[in-house]
Amino acid sequence: MRLTVIGTGYLGAVHAACMADIGHEVLGVDTDAGKIAALAAGRAPFFEPGLPEILARNTEAGRLRFTTSLKEAADFADLHFVCVGTPQRPDSLAADLSHVEAVVDGLAPLLTRDSLIVGKSTVPVGTTRSLSRRVAARVRPGVEAQVAWNPEFLREGFAVQDTLRPDRLVVGTAAPHADQLLRSVYEPMLRAGVTYVGTDPATAELVKVAANSFLATKISFINAMAEVCDASGADVVTLADALGHDARIGRRFLSAGLGFGGGCLPKDIRAFLARAEELDVGEAVSFLRQIDRINDRQRRRTVDLARHLVGGTFAGRQVAVLGATFKPDSDDVRDSPALAVTAQIAAEGADVRVHDPEGIDNARTALPGPVYCTDVMAACRDAELVLHLTEWRQYRALDPAELAEVVRTPRVLDARNALDRTAWHAAGWHVRALGRPVHV
Ligand code: NAD
Repeated sequence: MRLTVIGTGYLGAVHAACMADIGHEVLGVDTDAGKIAALAAGRAPFFEPGLPEILARNTEAGRLRFTTSLKEAADFADLHFVCVGTPQRPDSLAADLSHVEAVVDGLAPLLTRDSLIVGKSTVPVGTTRSLSRRVAARVRPGVEAQVAWNPEFLREGFAVQDTLRPDRLVVGTAAPHADQLLRSVYEPMLRAGVTYVGTDPATAELVKVAANSFLATKISFINAMAEVCDASGADVVTLADALGHDARIGRRFLSAGLGFGGGCLPKDIRAFLARAEELDVGEAVSFLRQIDRINDRQRRRTVDLARHLVGGTFAGRQVAVLGATFKPDSDDVRDSPALAVTAQIAAEGADVRVHDPEGIDNARTALPGPVYCTDVMAACRDAELVLHLTEWRQYRALDPAELAEVVRTPRVLDARNALDRTAWHAAGWHVRALGRPVHV
């Protein structure tokens, strides 16, 4: 089948490459000419494991092309996936839908045949309905275009496998033929046993927002428990392990630490709060406000503990930061808890050196102040405190004895509860973490 993918960022570039990989002819579209040039040359414009390989394979095979022209997209196919950003608005908690609206406003008048526009971006419930009206008002006479919603659940760092083998596909549409068309698009995945949930657009939109709200709640729940552990001398890691043995609860997303960030969870729960207010059910989801607050508080708690560990002030202190991205296996620093902590301690006068395996370029753009190092040892040389802020596997593999040789004071704050603290302690380190008693 022929299809287009409009918006080729973290979501769209992977979706386009994966759709080509399962045999479709795909045209990717973006307004960012630099991104399109890289993708057209078969190069991934960001770090995502597995993406370079499927990009190269499918561009070379001629199944995957890229353009900045919406007109070319309208001529190329009758099925268009919309994957543009829906960030938080600067003036409120609500989602900024201007990019999604710009796509449908631009595309609809260019359509010359009946078409299906399928949103994949995360949007407030009700968006499909309002976009359908916009499209109907803009298509040429005689042309019909439906809008459906097919939210995306991929995780950065696992985006390729999540797209090719998702836990489920959710498709919301009011038109049976649109449902049939999407079943054909995903046929190779359905044949491999992927579950398909066909529903109405509002439910599909809500599934995504509800899923992210639930995950954020799990993280903030265990972080709230970490605070109680700190106050009572209990150990949040053992607590989470014990809770996780209960199959109704499960251990995943119960890792206490610095909390969630990135381009999705924080803005998605805020947008949900804003939309719920509009629907006059704000009270029903008001707990999400607390989830957001608990999450923010972990950043302050980490800074407070770090300050305490260097003697009450950061002024003139040498601090090494391990990790800048919002999560491992990604170069994404949008709303990164690690960068937020780094910015605060730098603002309080610390001399900060930051290491990250893949995120240094983005981090330097977002936060120009600190010194960025491509070598962990260089970042830690003479440090009075090492802050472990993003749980890259490289950091778990560090030899604490070797690292102890280069720092001034072997003191580490593991804000992700991911290091082997017994091994670090044995190598002479003073190890601290959120929600855990001091290791002795
Ligand atoms: P992103 O910022 O990486 O990508 C968005 C892309 O859209 C950019 O390349 C931008 O240039 C392009 N764009 C903006 N306006 C455009 C226009 N009018 N025409 C064509 N292209 C345009 O964002 P992302 O992380 O890929 O997220 C996109 C959407 O997917 C968001 O709604 C997000 O919540 C959702 N989502 C993201 C993820 C994720 O892990 N990143 C996972 C699931 C859902």
